[in-house]
Formats: sequence, C-alpha cells, structure tokens
Amino acid sequence: MANTLEIKEQFKEDFKRRIVERYGRPLEQAHITEKYMTLGEMVRDYASINWSDSKNAVAESKSKQMYYFSMEFLMGRLLTNNLMNLGVYDVVKEGLAELGIDLNELEDLESDAGLGNGGLGRLAACFLDSLSSLNLPGNGNCIRYEYGLFKQKIVNNEQVEVPDQWLSLGNVWEVRKPKHAVDVKFGGHVDMWMGEDGKAVVNHYPSLVVRAVPYDVPIVGYDTKVTNTLRLWSAEVADDACDAASLNEYVNEVREICRNVYPDDSTEHGKKLRLKQEYFFVAAGLNNIIKTHMETYGTLSNFAEKNAIQLNDTHPVLCIPELMRILLDEYKMEWDEAWNITKKTMAYTNHTVLSEALEKWPIQYVQELLPRVYMIIEEIDRRFKYALSHEFGRTDLINECAILKDGQVHMANLAIVGSHSVNGVAALHTEILKNDVLKNFYEIYPSKFNNKTNGITHRRWLLYSNPQLTKLLEKTIDSDFKKHPEKLENLMKYVDNEDLQKEFMEVKMERKKILAKYIKDTLNIDIDVNSIFDVQAKRLHAYKRQLLNIMNIMHLYFKMKEDPSYRIYPRTFIFAAKAAPSYTFAKEVIKLIHCVADKVNNDSDVSPFMKVVFIPNYGVSIAEILMNAADVSEQISTAGKEASGTGNMKFMMNGAITLGTMDGANVEIVERVGMENAEIFGLRADDVALIHRENSYDVWKKYHQNPEIKRVVNSLIDNTFSSDPKDFKLIYNELMFKNDEYLLLADFEAYVHAQNRVEERYKDRKGWARMCLVNIAQSGYFSSDRTIEEYAKEIWNIESVKM
Ligand SMILES: *Cc1c(COP(=O)(O)O)cnc(C)c1O
Repeated sequence: MANTLEIKEQFKEDFKRRIVERYGRPLEQAHITEKYMTLGEMVRDYASINWSDSKNAVAESKSKQMYYFSMEFLMGRLLTNNLMNLGVYDVVKEGLAELGIDLNELEDLESDAGLGNGGLGRLAACFLDSLSSLNLPGNGNCIRYEYGLFKQKIVNNEQVEVPDQWLSLGNVWEVRKPKHAVDVKFGGHVDMWMGEDGKAVVNHYPSLVVRAVPYDVPIVGYDTKVTNTLRLWSAEVADDACDAASLNEYVNEVREICRNVYPDDSTEHGKKLRLKQEYFFVAAGLNNIIKTHMETYGTLSNFAEKNAIQLNDTHPVLCIPELMRILLDEYKMEWDEAWNITKKTMAYTNHTVLSEALEKWPIQYVQELLPRVYMIIEEIDRRFKYALSHEFGRTDLINECAILKDGQVHMANLAIVGSHSVNGVAALHTEILKNDVLKNFYEIYPSKFNNKTNGITHRRWLLYSNPQLTKLLEKTIDSDFKKHPEKLENLMKYVDNEDLQKEFMEVKMERKKILAKYIKDTLNIDIDVNSIFDVQAKRLHAYKRQLLNIMNIMHLYFKMKEDPSYRIYPRTFIFAAKAAPSYTFAKEVIKLIHCVADKVNNDSDVSPFMKVVFIPNYGVSIAEILMNAADVSEQISTAGKEASGTGNMKFMMNGAITLGTMDGANVEIVERVGMENAEIFGLRADDVALIHRENSYDVWKKYHQNPEIKRVVNSLIDNTFSSDPKDFKLIYNELMFKNDEYLLLADFEAYVHAQNRVEERYKDRKGWARMCLVNIAQSGYFSSDRTIEEYAKEIWNIESVKM
C-alpha cells in the first residue's frame, strides 16, 4: 500500500497528464471547467475498478439483487460525496492545492442532478447511498431527464420557472451502455389466437417503438468497494419506427419522453406523456433485468428468489402488469405461476394520504397507449374481484377495492393487489393507511402491511455538509458514529457538559455565518447571525402550511408596530420552496412571503428584530447549507397529512429544534428526544380526523373570536402588503370561503404560543445547546442505513456482497 504522499504525487501527475491528453494543452492553460471535468472523470475511472469488481462479485455469488424503481432520484452533486466515500478527499484537495487549484471551486461547477421534485426523490437518492455503504446489492432505475426540475427565479416577487440545463457541461458520472438498449412498444393493436400447444399466442403490432438506451451511474459506497448502479434510461429513435406519420413527428415524439421531470399535466397531451414516461422506464428496466436473469439462470421460475423490485410510490406500478406480460406472452408461463412470481417480486411504498395525489388513469389512455398491458390489468382486476367474493367472502368490498372503476385504473389498488408488501414511511402514516385510507385492503391482506420509517444518509447530511460539527463529534465521542450512526447516542453522556455546549454553539455560529454570506452574496440581504435562524425549507404545499408561518410573521409585525414596547428576540425567518408551475395557490403564497418581506425588512422599527428571507431555487445543494445553519426547524403540516418528512431529520441531525405538529416522523423524533426537547403544538391527527368526520369546524367563528387572527386575515385583502387588489384574494378565499381545509386558523393561537416559547427557551443559551445536543444524539435512528437494513431484512431478503 502506497503512502499518502506517493498517492498524492501520483494523483498530481495523472491529473496533469490527463488534461494534456484530453484538451491538448498544459494545465496552466486549461479552463476551470476542463479541470472539473478531468477530476470528475478520474474519480469515475477510479470508482470503475470497484464497480466492475462489484458486478463480478454479485454475478459469481448468484445472490439476490434489489432494484429500486423510482420516477425520481434527487441526487444533487456527486463529486464531494464520491471523493469522501472513496476516502480520497483530503489527498485530492491537497494535491490540487499544490497545483494551484481550489477543490471547492471545482465542486461549485457541478450541476445538481435534480431528477425529482422533493422528498420522494431525495429518499431514493439517500437509499442508494445506504445500499452501497452497507454492501447491499441494490440498484436504481429511473429516466435520464434532459432537463431537471425547473430552476426557480423570483421576478417582481413571483416565481418564474427557467429550464434546468443540468447536462450542459455533460455528466461526468454517467456511462452510456448502448449494448444494453431495449425497444419499448406503444399503441397499435393486439392479435390473439390459440396456438397448437393450446396456449395463447399474442402479437402486439405497436404504433410507436422507442429505443431505450441506458446511462449507468456508479453509486460509490462509504469505506467499501461495493459500487452499485443507478441506471437512467434515455429514449432514442428505433430502427423500426412503425407508422409514425413523418420522421420529424416521430423524432419529436421520442424526444419529449425524456425531456422533463414532470410534464405539464394540465393538458391531455401532458397527462398521456406522463403515462408514457412511466411505462417507458418500467418496460426498459424490467426487460433488462429479465435478460440478465435469463443469461445467468436460463429460467424464470426462480425469478422472485433472485430479484426484488421496490416500487417507489405508484409511478412505477406498471411493473406489475408488465412482468405478467413478459412471463405470459414471451415465456409462455401459466397465469398462476406468473402471478405468484410477480407478487413475490414486487413491493410497494405508499407516500401519501392525500386523496387527490392517489394516482388514477383514464382507462381509455391505458387501453390506447398499452393495449396488451391493459388486457392484463383487466384480468388481474377480474380475478381479484372473483377472489374477493369466493376466497375472502367480501363482496361488500368489490367496489371499494376494484382496480378498474369509474372509467379509471386505480394504481394504488393495482399496487397492493400485485405485491407482497405495502409499506408506509413513518409509524403514524402506516397506522393511518391501515385504519383509514387503505382500511379495506388491510382487512383483506393484513400481513402485507408494514412500516419503514424514512431516513436520510448521515454521510451527505452530516459528515460532508457539516464538517465543523463532524469534527466536534469525533473529538467528543470518537469516530465510530461515521460508520455506525446509532453510536451518535454516545453523545447523551455529554449533553450537560458546558464546554461542549459552548463549542456546539460556536459550530452553529460558523454554519450561520456561511449561510449569511450566501444570502448576502446572492440576495444582497444582511442578516444578523446572532438572531434565531428559523427555517422552513420544503416544497410549497397547502398542507405544509408555509402560510401559517408567514401569518405569524404578519401578526408579529402588527404587534410591534402597534406597541413600541413590544419587541421580540431578534429572529431571521428563512423560507425556501418551489411551487409546482400550475399550482396557483402555492405561487400566491410565495408572492405573499416576498411582499411581507419587503414591508418588514424595509421598516426600520421592526427590521432590527425580524427579517424575512426567501432563498430561491431550493434544491439539494441549497439544503446542504441551509439545514445545518438553522436553530429552529419548521415542521408545521396539518396533523395526519405529512406522510413522514425527511427535512425534519436533516435539521435534527444538525442540532436544530423541531417546532412542529404531531405529524409524520415528527412523532418519532419526539418519541426519541422527549417532548421537552422539541416544541410541539396544535391539533393531533385524530382531532383533525374527528373535525372532518363531524364537520364541526367553522372558520368564521375563529375569525370573530380572535381580533389578532382577524387583523392578519383582513390584511390579506386590504392592500397592506400589496397595492394590487387582486393579490392574495385567492389565499383569503381558500381560508374563509373554503372553510380553511388545512385548519390554519384552528392552529394559529397554538402556533403563536409555541413561537413565544421557542424565544424564551433560546434565551437560555445553555439549555438551548443541551437541547440541540440531545437532538443530535438521538438522530442516529433516522439514518437511512437503519431504514435500508429494515427493508433488506423484512422485505427484500437480500444479503451483503462479499468482495
Ligand atoms: C430533504 C429534502 C426534501 C424533503 O423535505 P420535507 O421537509 O421532508 O418535505 C425536499 N427537497 C429537498 C431538496 C430536500 O433535500
């Protein structure tokens, strides 16, 4: 084993040589993007040795593999992560410094791989990191979107969406694999007849054939050689284009499949495109897995013993009928055997209880786009209904649980019927699924249901994004926690240590200064690093209640303006959130936040005590500097609506206090840290359910009872924050004329009160630091390593790769 010095010298030589080879000029004349690309390629090539060894090890051991099918992987940047996981970060940083290159500048050139919307996609990315780091054979399957989720700009206080050209410098991590390309067929018609062997012969004459070409990205584990694969499928023209009207039209039709993360679904064309995307990556991924399996085993009868597929929400649920189609039509298997294999292979994760988010497709779309797959869905539905009456004796559930009804395909129902495991993503969420949303299915299939509380990779979200805190923890409890995050609990012994408390507050101050500098550089806003950093960073959605947060700010503003003797402890309210492009309410809330910020930040009476900052373009890289600078973590969803949340875990792990409702994983955070180390307020999930059941809520009563609520609500429409009378009318109407569906006014007083308690507690610096340390100490449970170990043992039945 060469020593560090030799490795460093070798690295420097290689780096210089590669620049010349690739760009035909010496290092001194190379452009910074060329240096970034060269470093990225070197890291990838270095990882490739382990990558190839991993593939061989898995193939030789013939061990079971897991495939995580997800429409979204919110990967963020990979350079730092890969250098760190490979254990060469320091050597590379020093080597580059000796060549006069600042590694941080190269890191900043990388575009975020923003192949997703939010929590669901980020979960998939954290899972990949944990799989490799735990030596487990697990791979991702997704689409290679040409544009990531839109970039958010703010123009005149409003969100403007700009295309995210994340591939403009190329993607150094991917390797195109044309030899693994497969054709995916859409539309047309199906012929069926009885073959000589008495089995059905099925011929699909498609109207569109698309070539799916995979781009593989190595997923480097921490302190291990095991390197898994994220396979991203790209649509290209096929040799056999079928009856496309014209070549141009065909090329367009192909290209739009992989263009955007979430095609605009306000039109029929956009909706159908989304369905096309879903089938595209499912069919490509699955056909590829089958091919590999057949090459190794020559039979599919052991398919479920060797392959597990996890369906991340319902987007990849066409996996179920597609696997049936392959087994029945291409491999001539009998229905019962094919069905057993399919159920044993598939497992489904539910991510939402919001009924409007449960995916349904018009039968007509599915029939037109996927005629053969639709026939199979019909047969699954028919047999399921038969089983309901003949096996389960539950004819009463036939309509409730049907896969096909009201002219639609109910994807969650298909997912549950066609898989052996259905999991929720936090304890409370799973209980709500069992007792409410999926109650009927729970009665039929109680043993399918299980919980897997989400997690986050502590490597990205603690070790790499917060080196200051990591160093303090290493000094205090030794470095075992890096490999075994549950060891963070050793910190409990020291939470009363006043030196440690002080050192923690210094680390927090350092992180706050880094964030303050970013805010100054990008928004030219000065914020007070001694103020409380109160952060709400997540997608903008009514149920997440950013509106409740800004209403408290409006309330504080009025109170300070009215009473010059009333002053709060200085606080910086920080928001970061993207709104879906067609979600007008959410966009209006973004505008309201900006308008309130304008008023508050420019009022010299109040601005020394409060500032409101909206950080545009929230994504993984911004989260990496935002979460760890927070004192207060805003997790204020209407109880029962947030399935889990993972932002809450990132904040906790970096020593912020949860100001939240008893919702999602907040419940489990509080279970671990104790009520006294969080600030919990508001209605509980069962209160909310009762209110809805009894229809007992009257928003106007709240409004008339409390003059402070009245003042805040009125200010939405009396030109206090905007001179345009159209502004915020929509928000006002949602609250007052739709009976405040998410119960903001019902929780308002409790929230204001909780915010006051936060302030009181912050003034006790030692008590506050102790609270933060308890949160860090208890956060190990929320490492995605724990989550993945549970999936691996209880659902996938996979074992670690021996290398
Ligand atoms: C963690 C994360 C999320 C999820 O946040 P929630 O508060 O759980 O909704 C969304 N987006 C990004 C970029 C994240 O890093």
